[in-house]
Amino acid sequence: MEYVKGKPYFCFCDKKIKQYKYLERDIKCDVLIIGGGIDDAIANFYLSQKFDVAMVDKGRFGMACTSCATALLEYQLDDFVDELLKYMTKEDIVLAYSLGLNAIDKIQEFIKRYGNNCNFALRPTFLYSNSIFSAKKVKDEYFFRKNNGFECELLDKTNNFFPFPIKQGIFAKNGGCELNPYLFTKQMVENAKNQDKIFENTNITQIEKLTSHYIAITNYGERIICNKIVIATGFNWEVLGRDDLCKRYITYSVVTSPIKYFIWKDRALIHDATSPYHYLRTLPDGRLIFGGEDTIFKGKPIQEKKCNKIYDKLEKDLFKLLPEIKNTAKIDYKFCGCFGTTLNNLGLIGESKFDDNILLFISCGANGIINAVEGASVIEDILNKRFNPLAKLFSPKREV
Ligand SMILES: Cc1cc2nc3c(=O)[nH]c(=O)nc-3n(C[C@H](O)[C@H](O)[C@H](O)COP(=O)(O)OP(=O)(O)OC[C@H]3O[C@@H](n4cnc5c(N)ncnc54)[C@H](O)[C@@H]3O)c2cc1C
Repeated sequence: MEYVKGKPYFCFCDKKIKQYKYLERDIKCDVLIIGGGIDDAIANFYLSQKFDVAMVDKGRFGMACTSCATALLEYQLDDFVDELLKYMTKEDIVLAYSLGLNAIDKIQEFIKRYGNNCNFALRPTFLYSNSIFSAKKVKDEYFFRKNNGFECELLDKTNNFFPFPIKQGIFAKNGGCELNPYLFTKQMVENAKNQDKIFENTNITQIEKLTSHYIAITNYGERIICNKIVIATGFNWEVLGRDDLCKRYITYSVVTSPIKYFIWKDRALIHDATSPYHYLRTLPDGRLIFGGEDTIFKGKPIQEKKCNKIYDKLEKDLFKLLPEIKNTAKIDYKFCGCFGTTLNNLGLIGESKFDDNILLFISCGANGIINAVEGASVIEDILNKRFNPLAKLFSPKREV
């Protein structure tokens, strides 16, 4: 089954591709991470500093959903506060927004220490709507943020400094960051402490539970003997034989040719909250990436014909939003991939419903990458049997 389709922009930028070997012998470890996307790389980087961890991917690292992520990393969640309040307390929402800001700080610390090999940049965020209905929600969201200490500015048509019309918008100067998710994954993998226990092209096809440990078996029959397993396989849950962990959607993106002269204020990450929503950001080589138009993923192969229709719609909507670029820009990349959603917009990170020693590490929502950075501390605390205030927000045992 395919979970991505098209020509993802991000993994075409890599010049030096380091390949990790595949597993050729039986090994032992305390914690096995299954998967090698951005979530897994984040979990492996942090956990390998304290635990005996092995990480395996059935293909190459970062080539699945990670290669498609638009990588707008914002502290806000997908839904507005009025919707989130149905599933979380006000305090929890504030905690979730704060963890987004903490995650941005942590990524920045990582980049300071290991170098910027993934086009990381801090960016303001701009959440807006040009529809009267959603504009009211944007305004309420602004007051929620302002009243809870999140620095931001309310824009409307009188003070809008973006090159398209808005009814209402929230500009958060320190609200986000961007990076190349594929290169960031590789950088995280290459700086992890467990280099001798990282394997590509190693497909786990079976998990056997014994009384005191697990045996994960690869397609070539090699065995990994471990005490805990972290399932970080993105939205592909075939190894668990389940398809009911959370709702899955396909989201679509197009990338333009470079537009060197056309840039808006501080290259903000832009999110149009009108339904169906769209997201937009600049890329370091002057291109724009524009996406959205989500459709439900029903566990069936992604249809090329349907994708093409949606890419055409995205192209039309982008040029309608920014008519200045219509005659000079063309679409160079089109791609789509699967992502998951939950009621509180947060990932499934923690002990699974079916076995406490099988931990899930599945980031959900448009903010999956941010969630994964803080989610790693939830897994670390579970392994250390320590309380973590975020655990209940991410628990796979909650209603999703
Ligand atoms: C078009 C698009 C735009 C997005 N935009 C954003 C965004 O702007 N911001 C954001 O935060 N998030 C965004 N996301 C979501 C983001 O891409 C995901 O949250 C993230 O990539 C998930 O990473 P992952 O490592 O869990 O999954 P993946 O990247 O899918 O990695 C899972 C890995 O597990 C491996 N695997 C699966 N089964 C096995 C097995 N049995 N044995 C061994 N290996 C296995 C696969 O080979 C794969 O490499 C977007 C997603 C899409 C599709």
